[in-house]
Amino acid sequence: MEEKVSRNFIENEIDKDLKDGVYNSVCTRFPPEPNGYLHIGHAKSILLNYGLKEEYNGEFHLRFDDTNPIKEDVEYVESIKEDVLWLGADYKEHLHFASDYFDKMYECAILLINKGKAYVDDLSANEIREYRGTLTSPGKNSPYRDRSIEDNLKLFEEMRSGDIEDGSKVLRAKIDMSSPNINMRDPVLYRVAHLNHHNTGDKWKIYPMYDFAHPIEDAIEGVTHSICTLEFEDHRPLYDWVVRECEFANPPRQIEFAKLYLTNVVTGKRYIKKLVEDKVVDGWDDPRLVTIAALRRRGYTKEALRMFVDMVGVSKSNSSVDYAMLEYCIREDLKLKKNRVQAVLDPIKLVIDNYPEGEIEYLDAPNNQENEELGNRKIPFGKELYIERDDFMIEPVKKYKRLYPGNEVRLMFAYFVTCTSFETDENGNVTVVHCTYDPETKSGSGFTGRKVKGTIHWVEKSTAIKAIARLYENLVDEEKGVYNEMDGTLNLNPNSLEIKDIFVEPSVTDFISGDSFQFLRNGYFCIDSKDTNESNLVFNRIVSMKSSFKLPPK
Ligand code: ATP
Ligand code: MG
Repeated sequence: MEEKVSRNFIENEIDKDLKDGVYNSVCTRFPPEPNGYLHIGHAKSILLNYGLKEEYNGEFHLRFDDTNPIKEDVEYVESIKEDVLWLGADYKEHLHFASDYFDKMYECAILLINKGKAYVDDLSANEIREYRGTLTSPGKNSPYRDRSIEDNLKLFEEMRSGDIEDGSKVLRAKIDMSSPNINMRDPVLYRVAHLNHHNTGDKWKIYPMYDFAHPIEDAIEGVTHSICTLEFEDHRPLYDWVVRECEFANPPRQIEFAKLYLTNVVTGKRYIKKLVEDKVVDGWDDPRLVTIAALRRRGYTKEALRMFVDMVGVSKSNSSVDYAMLEYCIREDLKLKKNRVQAVLDPIKLVIDNYPEGEIEYLDAPNNQENEELGNRKIPFGKELYIERDDFMIEPVKKYKRLYPGNEVRLMFAYFVTCTSFETDENGNVTVVHCTYDPETKSGSGFTGRKVKGTIHWVEKSTAIKAIARLYENLVDEEKGVYNEMDGTLNLNPNSLEIKDIFVEPSVTDFISGDSFQFLRNGYFCIDSKDTNESNLVFNRIVSMKSSFKLPPK
């Protein structure tokens, strides 16, 4: 077992179970319902469970909780597999489907009936709800609760064989209608539903309820620690009841932790699904979403997600994590790994009047100033360049150190230039900036004659690559909050996507879809894997350079 400085409460519990001999190995699982794409919260659960498998040299299972055929879809099964693998959680030898266990679940139900622990109830769903009582008042027994074992077996068989209409009978556990825990007031175990299932076809007319199916699935697979989120804490007594009464040897143990929430971010499949269906976003992998597919497309790496999940840690109380922390992690991960290149997002032309017409020279530029190992590249330089519109001002504001008439700046990796004049269109917008350069000041020449205060980036005009940049803002309006208090809908930010025509230095064409860069001074960008093609180069801004996140003091 690898030594760790501080252990979380789940690790402490597992350590104790191993020490006490409750289990002699560890098996965890990630059990998604295939009813949507996975999001950052699921990533936390996957990395947590897979991390425990690695730490304890145990097993990790991916199990699709496909017990509710109405909401499920194979598209989701495939996307979930892809996302789990991408995160590095290898489940290849342990891929399971809850629906593979329908026979065993059925046997468990028969066992419970035979033990007098389950009965067929004719109450309607509404009546069951009424009989259940409330947090402050006990429930009351169903008039069908004392049916004989023979009657129950016969009726359950009718439910199974398809003779019973949807909703007219259910199988319930016989536990305690006055339990202070409402989950223990004779929960429904099976319902009748004439549905076609993606795996079992029309074999089954009855489908197990989550609270019954889930513990059985875990127990069949030999899961030791069934790690789930806090909302299931009150279901734990039922979980334990099911595995005990179904007589599983060495049953699994449920441990709960707090869900991951991010401030001002839409997590929760239900909301994401609505955004996709309403076409507010371009599919489940729209880079503004926090599905795993969207984060990947945006340019997030699994290393960054891992760092993020580790920083967040596991906890027993719900809270929201600042989105800026996720951004911090991707900046940290890419900082030393990626080339830093020049790209101009809001171009105006810069003409160097004393530079030879038609000449292109190739200048040396380090690929990453902080990591020599990434080497150098040659970048073309010439008489006409593009610079950022806001790197020039006709009348400089106080402390402005970039280009303005009469001022000298460094062109990154190139020469000092002094602004001599500018041109405007009929509306007064600057169209061209003129300058002269000093050949003595070439970068790397050892020139020490004088210093300049500002350095700006640029792209040579004749060799520049035209591309599209997509700049993202939060999908929801941060001022108003994520959800509308009146009707629960989302408060959308109308400016969450800005599309720009940009110019990039030619070295980017050596890279492929999915690769990412730092665009010097402009942030980290990733070549979009979906919309990039031979005639269109599309960059997604992963994150800007500026950070609002501060690491907490150690
Ligand atoms: P959601 O409704 O937010 O999409 P879910 O709980 O309905 O989530 P499931 O497919 O049922 O999604 O969940 C699979 C696993 O992922 C469960 O073990 C669940 O506890 C865990 N999980 C879901 N959301 C989060 C979250 N925000 N943080 C941590 N774990 C989560
Ligand atoms: Mg769910």
